[in-house]
Amino acid sequence: MTGFDTFLVADWSAAQGVRRAGKDAIWIALAQDGAVKPARHFSTRLDAEAWIAETIRAEIAAGRRVMAAFDFPFGYPTGVVEIICGAADPLALWDWLAARITDDARGRNNRFAVAEEINALFPGEGPFWGKHNRDAYPGIPYGGRSRTAEVSEKRACDISAKASSSVWQLAFPPTVGGQALMGMPMLSRLRRIQGCAVWPFEAWQEAQAVLTEIWPGLIEPAVRASDDLRDRAQVEGLARALSRLPLAELERMMDIDAPEEGWILGAGHGERLTDLARPNSLRPPPLRNDCFALPAGVDWTPVDTALALLRERLHPVTGTTKSGLFEAEGRILAEDVIARRANPPHPNTAVDGYGFAAASVGEGDAVLPLVQGRAAAGAPFEGPVPRGSALRVLTGADLPAGVDTVVLDEDCSVGDGRVAFRGGVKPGANTRKAGEDAGEGDRVLSAGRKLTAPDLALAAAVGHGTLPIREKLRVAVLSTGDELTEPGDVPGAGGIFDANRPMLLSTLARWGHVPVDLGRIPDDRSAVAAAFDRAGRDADVLLTSGGASAGDEDHVSALLREAGAMQEWRIALKPGRPLALGLWNDIPVFGLPGNPVAAFVCTLIFARPALTVLAGGNWAEPQGFEIPAAFEKRKKPGRREYLRARMRDGCAEVFPSEGSGRVSSLSWGEGLVEIEDGERHIRPGDPVRFIPYGSFGL
Ligand code: AMP
Ligand code: MG
Repeated sequence: MTGFDTFLVADWSAAQGVRRAGKDAIWIALAQDGAVKPARHFSTRLDAEAWIAETIRAEIAAGRRVMAAFDFPFGYPTGVVEIICGAADPLALWDWLAARITDDARGRNNRFAVAEEINALFPGEGPFWGKHNRDAYPGIPYGGRSRTAEVSEKRACDISAKASSSVWQLAFPPTVGGQALMGMPMLSRLRRIQGCAVWPFEAWQEAQAVLTEIWPGLIEPAVRASDDLRDRAQVEGLARALSRLPLAELERMMDIDAPEEGWILGAGHGERLTDLARPNSLRPPPLRNDCFALPAGVDWTPVDTALALLRERLHPVTGTTKSGLFEAEGRILAEDVIARRANPPHPNTAVDGYGFAAASVGEGDAVLPLVQGRAAAGAPFEGPVPRGSALRVLTGADLPAGVDTVVLDEDCSVGDGRVAFRGGVKPGANTRKAGEDAGEGDRVLSAGRKLTAPDLALAAAVGHGTLPIREKLRVAVLSTGDELTEPGDVPGAGGIFDANRPMLLSTLARWGHVPVDLGRIPDDRSAVAAAFDRAGRDADVLLTSGGASAGDEDHVSALLREAGAMQEWRIALKPGRPLALGLWNDIPVFGLPGNPVAAFVCTLIFARPALTVLAGGNWAEPQGFEIPAAFEKRKKPGRREYLRARMRDGCAEVFPSEGSGRVSSLSWGEGLVEIEDGERHIRPGDPVRFIPYGSFGL
């Protein structure tokens, strides 16, 4: 069997109604190519099913193999299906249920009625039990204990996995019974997607998409150790564990003969899965050897094609940790931030003034007696304000009971223990509603975001004192060339100063990575190899400059080629010579050209977004804007050009010389002008795209 590219893990829910992010909601995690994405929350089963179906179809269409795992039973104890549908075929039961179960966009469903219908098919009380209201659904016993069950409470796999829950339980957590009733109809539809098979009921070994049953209880110690929301920790943990399982091990776990009851994938292997589910138990798997392969047969690859490949194939390689909120600026968020409480937590007043109930006043001018005391921020007024009275309130104060409207100080006259103001005050005026900024359970920040100062304010406002962040990416830098001299030293014959290293190291620090300086390496194969080895030990990524072409002294490309992991990137780009990309001891190597201008431009255009993704951040596209050119230039079609540029009087000026050895042009520039791949004749005043260095995070 071939491995799975994607694991989708869903935490199902039978709940009635639309669920907010939080407990008992539907959570779905996705692990793609070994990287676990933050779990998504769905408010209704309908939304979740649509998204699952779409994800499965998209993966199949992309030629990727996907496993979709669900946390509810796929079958019932032996003998049950026969009683319900007259044949021992669990898939027939799925269809039977799909024809009966109803569910709507508000989560209203008929699972109790269907359970009652099933119970009626059995002698005695029937298997389903548990309801919220003793008087409803007479065919369903209230509690499980009182009942004389004809059928087994558990399947063989529930016993093997030491699951305490019953597949028949409809109310009071764990409501596995309800989840199965609301889940099987979905499975009945999903399995009809072309290429989809159900484990272990069907031949799934060659199927492009496989539906499996899983149970979060298998990784409970890992879930308990996480301080994340339980449901999220469960699905993310399972997705992580499955994606880390070596293929042979997964195959052994799937090699099950369970004709009717189904099986929990991994039952009996809880300890192993728990180990793999822990976020830091392992580093994410290394990148694939061919991750830098460009399309074959293309002479010069367009910039956008190369960028799309990097975006698709790279994934985070950094671990996760926690940071105090105050220290988190500039760090990359490792998980979504969910509001622990609403902001504002209570309705409060937006101004200094007088609060009262809108119903106390009519259309006309009002005079209200003042209640003794006041409400201030942090010093709420105890007790209600009676109808027809008003209270002194200060900005930020919680509205006391009996107050829903505030009139501004400036609009009031006060005296004799009374406040007077003109009519026409809108009910609710000058107040802030609880949760108007963020609701409890809302996702306020998404994983992959580089935290800004305002982000810290938001995270603080919704109750966070620490934040889950990525460890910093360690980026090693080395320069190659016999001619290179350390800046400030005395150069030998033919020597030049190493200009690239200070430029690259400081750029990396500015981007929030940890620069690891590996120094200057002469044009000597074993010296370069030793430096590569050091990078493999001390860093997550290596940036080299010089020696990346195919000449005699181009040892960077030669070494990567020997290691069998070299890709020569011939990009339709000026300034730029071929780049050498590859893997050395599992770490990615970006072999930049030696010319400082080309090295810098390639760093901004290719290395920056690539490093951001490796560091766990979102793909970074520099923001540019169109301004009139202050220059004239003719450009041939077939490659993209970046000119060193700056903005003066609202127009883009470019450096007079395009020579790629001109270090001074980089320093003169304050950004780049990007000229698209096609032919252009730019005249003064024509719009051109200017990307300031700031847009590259500098
Ligand atoms: P290479 O890519 O090694 O063929 O180098 C191309 C050009 O860039 C040569 O003129 C090198 O001397 C120059 N060069 C290479 N590395 C550096 C560096 N670190 N600082 C300044 N110039 C460099
Ligand atoms: Mg060289």
